[in-house]
Amino acid sequence: MSDSRVAVVTGAARGIGRASAVALAKAGYRVAGADIAALASSAMDYRPATPEDLAETGRLVEEAGAEWLPVVFDQRDKSAVQDGFSQIVDRFGGIDVVFANAGIQGFAPLLEMSDEVWHDQIDINLTGTANVLRIAAPLLVQRGGGRIIITSSTQGQHGTLDGSGYSASKWGLLGLMKSAALELGQYGITVNAVIPGLIDTALTRHEDRYAQIIRSGGNEPTGDVEKDEQTAAAAQQRKLPLGVPWVEAEDVAPLVVFLASEEARMVSGTSFAATGGDSANITA
Ligand code: NAP
Repeated sequence: MSDSRVAVVTGAARGIGRASAVALAKAGYRVAGADIAALASSAMDYRPATPEDLAETGRLVEEAGAEWLPVVFDQRDKSAVQDGFSQIVDRFGGIDVVFANAGIQGFAPLLEMSDEVWHDQIDINLTGTANVLRIAAPLLVQRGGGRIIITSSTQGQHGTLDGSGYSASKWGLLGLMKSAALELGQYGITVNAVIPGLIDTALTRHEDRYAQIIRSGGNEPTGDVEKDEQTAAAAQQRKLPLGVPWVEAEDVAPLVVFLASEEARMVSGTSFAATGGDSANITA
């Protein structure tokens, strides 16, 4: 495996990042998994990932037969991201694929939103992802080409009640992706986005999210997490053509593997969605 291609996954400690790291490992890549693996923002109404979560991703990647390198950084900190990529290049000699996936979500109506909720989402999701791209892109140019894949969201394609900061960050990522695709194509680098629907991960499975889904339907949450979870799941199941409340992280990972592949060499500047059919509710 020592001459296999190298994929870097951010937000690798769990969720979509972990599922994609394992899928890339199974597809034959050496994998570097980066994560903050600590509380990124008090805007998060859900438990943060831990160093043990990142280690578990490593165990799964190695179990799939691939080489693994864990890297810890906060993607808001450009010099820490630079150090992380230097560690990866020192270990693997270069990079071929970057899945810039790390992110957070917080809910707050505009009229009540603290500066922190706004800034943390923009700083982590948008500026942090741009930091990763700006540091990774020259390494891909040196390599003679490569793949960049960004995680946006359906909430980067429509407005989100009580979720303006998140929506703004995820719309911004589509602008970043398309602009980077225009600039980097001449170097043989493709840049695309994946659009996850509501995925069964810590980022989605919590009371603030259930409340948001219930309010979007014109009702009020009870505050009882179990009841609100059932109400939200039923609403989702009615809404999604494929009849599931949440999509699994493993259903997003194959899109990442395809976009990373040689076969996707003529695919750039676009997005691929795994939403349980919710994409049918979105224009274009
Ligand atoms: P997740 O399980 O919470 O994974 C996200 C990972 O990113 C966490 O391990 C998190 O670490 C890490 N992270 C957060 N801030 C970071 C920072 N500043 N620097 C480095 N790492 C950081 O959530 P997920 O559902 O897999 O989400 C992955 C991506 O998919 C995110 O960009 C999210 O916005 C997007 N997405 C998710 C859904 C969904 O329904 N789940 C839908 C559409 C898009 P901590 O937890 O320790 O902060």
